[in-house]
Amino acid sequence: MSGKFLRVKCKCGTEQTLFSHVTSSITCTSCNVALAEPSGGEAVIFGKIIKEAG
Ligand SMILES: [Zn+2]
Repeated sequence: MSGKFLRVKCKCGTEQTLFSHVTSSITCTSCNVALAEPSGGEAVIFGKIIKEAG
């Protein structure tokens, strides 16, 4: 399975690293807002993607 890690910034300012192909919903550790949801392939990212890493 291919994929990459994404550095995502929530609107509250918290940054998290998550996989581009998540299998479950990811929420912000700080404010609990959804940051990513699985979509059968590349995840739907709700936060702002700051950086992509291999
Ligand atoms: Zn947040």
